[in-house]
Amino acid sequence: MDLHTHSKFSDGTDLPEVLVEAGIDVCLTSIAITDHVRADSDWVWHYIDYMEEVREYYGDRIRVLSGVEAKVVDFNGTLDMPEGVEDFVDIVLSAVHRVPKEDGGFLTDDEIASDGERALNLWARAVVGAIKNPSVAVIAHPGLIMKNHGIEITEEVAEKVAKAAGGEAVAFEYNVGWGVPKGCLLNGLMRHGVSFTVGSDAHSADELREVWGDGGAGGNIPDEIINRLVIL
Ligand SMILES: [Zn+2]
Ligand SMILES: [Zn+2]
Repeated sequence: MDLHTHSKFSDGTDLPEVLVEAGIDVCLTSIAITDHVRADSDWVWHYIDYMEEVREYYGDRIRVLSGVEAKVVDFNGTLDMPEGVEDFVDIVLSAVHRVPKEDGGFLTDDEIASDGERALNLWARAVVGAIKNPSVAVIAHPGLIMKNHGIEITEEVAEKVAKAAGGEAVAFEYNVGWGVPKGCLLNGLMRHGVSFTVGSDAHSADELREVWGDGGAGGNIPDEIINRLVIL
């Protein structure tokens, strides 16, 4: 499965059907197109209709899911997404693309660099907020923003996130494109019995083929993850 890809509807380079055909070529059993949305993404309604046709056309060869990826903007799990979208897509991915601040807004790169501990704690609160939002099916590329800033997720913070996720319906994504989650976060999620999906975050059919073709990162999914995969 690859439940995290982007098409031309947002910042990908190919139409959804081109990604789906690449998925068929590399023998994926299911693929989700999960374009980036924001609260003002009016095109999403056309996209939802479009995905319905793609799903119907390819339905007997691969399972096609329509989805969106939205960033979490606070600690209550509020998503930057047009209202009601969750009722019309199969899968809502939530990601911490920016770290929310205590009083609104987001940390700047400088603020993250100057106080990694504060950034880590705020990141964890944002993830826990997303976990509690019933519209969210999957936490996308967990920990990527911390990794990109060189901040190690400590055992204590990982435990806080994993404990919040344990017993909830939300799944965490094992992102084969970015290699997250890992370390303490991955172990914590395992300990708390959290379910996983697999996604690549491919932004083109070529990237998708590279990840899932011979020798690609898609062949390196740990067994422990494979045993915890959920079919959404
Ligand atoms: Zn993302
Ligand atoms: Zn993405």
